[in-house]
Amino acid sequence: MIATMAELSGAAAARYGTRTAVTILGGSSISFHDIDAMAGRFAGGLAALGLGRGDRIALHLPNGLDWIIAYHAIARLGGVVVPCNILLTPAEVGWITDDAEVAGQIVASDRCDLIRTAQKGSPRTITERDFARLLASDWINAASCDPDDLFTIGYTSGTTGRPKGANQTHRAVAGSVGMTATIHARHEGDRILTALPFPHVYGNVVLNAGLLAGSALFVLPRFDAGDALAAIARHEITLFEGVPTMFYQMLTHPDVEVADLRTLRRCTVGGQTMPLAKIEEVVTRFGCPLLELWGMTEVAGPAITHSPYWPARHGSIGLPFPGMEVRIGSLQQAGGIAKPLEAGEILVRGPLVTKSYWRNPRATAEAIDAEGWLATGDVGYADPDGYIFVVDRLKDMIITGGYNIYPAEVEQVLATHPAVAMSAVVGVPDAEKGELAHAYIVLAAGCEPDEAVLNTHCRAILAPYKVPRRYHFVNELPRTSTGKILRRALRDPS
Ligand code: ATP
Ligand code: MG
Repeated sequence: MIATMAELSGAAAARYGTRTAVTILGGSSISFHDIDAMAGRFAGGLAALGLGRGDRIALHLPNGLDWIIAYHAIARLGGVVVPCNILLTPAEVGWITDDAEVAGQIVASDRCDLIRTAQKGSPRTITERDFARLLASDWINAASCDPDDLFTIGYTSGTTGRPKGANQTHRAVAGSVGMTATIHARHEGDRILTALPFPHVYGNVVLNAGLLAGSALFVLPRFDAGDALAAIARHEITLFEGVPTMFYQMLTHPDVEVADLRTLRRCTVGGQTMPLAKIEEVVTRFGCPLLELWGMTEVAGPAITHSPYWPARHGSIGLPFPGMEVRIGSLQQAGGIAKPLEAGEILVRGPLVTKSYWRNPRATAEAIDAEGWLATGDVGYADPDGYIFVVDRLKDMIITGGYNIYPAEVEQVLATHPAVAMSAVVGVPDAEKGELAHAYIVLAAGCEPDEAVLNTHCRAILAPYKVPRRYHFVNELPRTSTGKILRRALRDPS
């Protein structure tokens, strides 16, 4: 375990030395030692530019070695990382960097001019062109940060609205990384494949838990199902980690029939509900367990998870990390506590939970109470053994003629039909019923659109009011920069 993220690259270098830590597929590799040595010099270069402890520094680079070195350089410097996904538009990056009032930014050269045009502030800007100069600087030792110092401002995925900056301390990020490494039993023999974006808490934890455990990490700079299947065989991958849409695409890719997946010991999935039928399909096709984990930007990574050490309970998101408390609030009664198996809002408290949103007292007051409980916006329930089940997001609930529909329940049922590769159910306004449920369907390869068949399938399982009123057959579903299905964009296409 490490107390602060400033220590991580040095601790990994001391333990694992010149072994290869990260390989960017189609690019180059780097050892544990070199990550630390280069981060130390890069940090020296940042210091020479006048950046220092507590300075907020945006990071907007593709998933690659530059990201890893720059991130650990900011950590060593005692700076605050403001991660920006490379898929964000320059206007979105400009909004985030202005909101966070960054003192510096490390941005991809080809997007630099557009970003600067989009931002009001004028932070010190570093692009890949400056890297050689920074890396020629004198090495600096890791700052001795306090675990309660701010380390990252993590902007949420924007699934339900404009992203919010969640303040994450060293304690929260290092705690999440350390616990994930331990609870998922990661070790030096693991060979991990991921295409998760490093700026997102899930990608960040996969990267850094891998470094802490001494695993070899293989990174696909862009997710492609065929490339992922081929990489598992070629690099003898033991652990694949992704969001549900990545698994859906792999399951329907023609190569899944012939891919050699025998080295996989397990996979992890998180970020969005994955229907049970699809989890079972992955377990059968991939021949290994699929561990679901639940997390959010506000808790700096996963906080509720399955573990190889704990009995599996399919359909649930698992048990809370040690030290994290989970309470199911009563939706009827503010502050109330639901009985076992009764659904309510999932509330979390503990060392990983943010104490506030960045300069957003309104969002803070809405989500976090005086005792430190964070209202997650997710509806769920606990079983008598404490396993947590997510029903859906509160904001996505559809109200039709006075009845509540949780889209995830309908998507679970659609996923059991072999013609459905993925689906999203949303409410569309209706003068009479308030809202009507519409289903957007991506068909499995070779299947024909047939509204009547899906309707009969849903009617056989769901109460009539939950059955979608219309089925739209589409080639793909809108997604966030993390790869989550964006129901909001289907509801409000503007
Ligand atoms: P925003 O807060 O801006 O609307 P977001 O909530 O998608 O975006 P993140 O912090 O990336 O931003 O995601 C956290 C959310 O992802 C959780 O609140 C939950 O709704 C969902 N989530 C994460 N893991 C799981 C999981 N295993 N099962 C179901 N939902 C999950
Ligand atoms: Mg959220």
